Amino acid sequence: MAEKIEKPIRVRMAPSPTGHLHMGTAHTALFNWLFARQHNATFVLRVEDTDKERSRKEYEEEIAEGLRWLGIDWNEGPDKGGDFGPYRQSERTVIYRKYLQELLDKGEAYYCYCTKEDIEAQKQALTAQGLPPKYNGHCRDLKEPPAGKNPEVIRFKVPETKVEFTDMIRGKVVFDTSLFGDMIIAKDLDNPLYNFAVVVDDALMEITHVIRGEDHVSNTPKQILMQRALGFPEPTYAHLPLILNPDRSKMSKRFADTALSDYRNNGYLPEAMMNFLAFLGWHPKGDQDVLGTEELIREFDITRVQKAGAIFNQEKLDWLNREYLKKMSDAEIAHAAQPFFAAEKIAADKEKIEKVVGVVRGRASTLKDFPAAGRLFFELPEYAASLLVWKNTTLETVVPALKKAETALKEVSADHFDQVFLRETLAAVVGSGSRGEILWPLRVALSGQASSPDPVEIMSVLGKEESLRRIAVAIEKCA
Ligand code: GLU
Repeated sequence: MAEKIEKPIRVRMAPSPTGHLHMGTAHTALFNWLFARQHNATFVLRVEDTDKERSRKEYEEEIAEGLRWLGIDWNEGPDKGGDFGPYRQSERTVIYRKYLQELLDKGEAYYCYCTKEDIEAQKQALTAQGLPPKYNGHCRDLKEPPAGKNPEVIRFKVPETKVEFTDMIRGKVVFDTSLFGDMIIAKDLDNPLYNFAVVVDDALMEITHVIRGEDHVSNTPKQILMQRALGFPEPTYAHLPLILNPDRSKMSKRFADTALSDYRNNGYLPEAMMNFLAFLGWHPKGDQDVLGTEELIREFDITRVQKAGAIFNQEKLDWLNREYLKKMSDAEIAHAAQPFFAAEKIAADKEKIEKVVGVVRGRASTLKDFPAAGRLFFELPEYAASLLVWKNTTLETVVPALKKAETALKEVSADHFDQVFLRETLAAVVGSGSRGEILWPLRVALSGQASSPDPVEIMSVLGKEESLRRIAVAIEKCA
């Protein structure tokens, strides 16, 4: 068995910038980061952009930006440098070339001249014989390149053996390589593929622990074989459970948003997101559900991560977001929610948003809920006069009720339009009469909605002038 390197601990996150920052990638990044932080280790961000057609700079930026938003930082990476860079695979071609050549020189890899059609024909022949459709090794031992043919790809000679490794989460894992066939590791010397580039990078960047998604388990034996062929040390592996839809299929748009940015744009807080992602496939020993960053770093234990897929639970995320909102002051929420008001074209200053937050915060699960619940404070919604009518009463009772309230409210000075004063005033207006008959039409007049905060709360934000204007509008509607 290859020698294990013990120290210093270095982990890496190796996203491919071929799409938005997926929740699964954020999950993997977080587990790497927690592991790194609790071991005082180095966390490397490596951009795996060997797929030239699909890799895009905008995605690379989105990934970095999304991780930063979540609260994840790294010690080395394309934007930070470090002694083991460059950290973008597209800038490491010379390095891969050297090691590809080494494998070719050692006879561990070879040029394959089989065309796509040849491969297809081979596969069909094998399948017809009831054999697994792997590459048949046609070019493995060629003495001379076939006349008139150019190399199609470079293949690695996969020995028929058993490869065993100990996964920190899954325990002992064994693969029989006889089913693999000789695998393609590069299109040519300048175009290596993932499985090869990752082996070179993990070795040269002195990565000690490879923590990644379960979808890479079957790549691990292939990578170990190449490490052996190149004399590289073997890192320790941990394969994290995948995130699943409630029906246990792989997380998909059909059930939930898959990009981290969707959650950010929908008003989830980064702290809630981090807490939520940490609990996908892991749980602390105690029964706490709300753990802040420092607590997560302290409590996280990679050996206690579950093997089974982690079900994405939207209600849990909403609940956690509400818990994190509860910890914030009105001013903090107002600051975080301001862009959401702007996005809804509600032009409001911080002070007013803060007042609105104070009265609607009990109704909000996300930052996006604030402009939705708060819009009525900026513009009176359209509503029908019939909405003003309380339960078993008629439209005739509305105007006297509103007038009674109006008269009393006119007496309150604008400086005393606060909740304490207003509550006393309305209590006096209701007296021993029916609360609903007065307060329902008043609340609808002020909010234009069937459900809203209570009239006192609304008026304390609207102020005297606007409150009386809205009451007058309602009286007018009944005329
Ligand atoms: N670029 C690979 C991916 O995005 C990284 C796999 C690995 O961590 O080795 O899945």
